[in-house]
Amino acid sequence: MRTYAILVGLDMAKLAQVLGGSLVAHIDHRDGATQVALVGKITEAANFALMQLTSPVNFDLSAIEGINSLGVRAWVHFVRDGEVAGLDMTFQRCAPVLVQQISMISNFMGSRSRVTSLFVPYLCPKCNAEELRLVNVTPGTPIAVAPSIPCPKCKTSMQLDELEEMYESLFEKPAAR
Ligand SMILES: [Zn+2]
Repeated sequence: MRTYAILVGLDMAKLAQVLGGSLVAHIDHRDGATQVALVGKITEAANFALMQLTSPVNFDLSAIEGINSLGVRAWVHFVRDGEVAGLDMTFQRCAPVLVQQISMISNFMGSRSRVTSLFVPYLCPKCNAEELRLVNVTPGTPIAVAPSIPCPKCKTSMQLDELEEMYESLFEKPAAR
């Protein structure tokens, strides 16, 4: 599987907190919220409790390169515990590897936290260029994902690198108990 490592817009001068394995949290306080950019892979080595978080928290998840099954469990527990503790959490710029998890696990982003935007991957069949498009998520509105976009390098029609149907039902599932 390809990974889409993107670091666009991340300010690496923030406080860097190593959470375990390759996962690092870049934590900043601005706009009246705790801003957390997570970078690397989420695995069983990740200890999210190391982060000092005060509500509200905005997570930038654009630089998550991968997540394994034990990482999924650690993440789901972290989000659940955060919600129980009263943390107001927003998830933005979700990497495609996380969008796949959201599509499979109904409470992957908790039960009352909000996903505000996610990246949609495209692949060019001619020159193999990869491109990510940021799509905003509006509660109660279907996610508008273009099935193809023009390749910025060769102008060929790039194809969506996920199943289009996956996006249609992303946030419509009832929460798991
Ligand atoms: Zn191309």
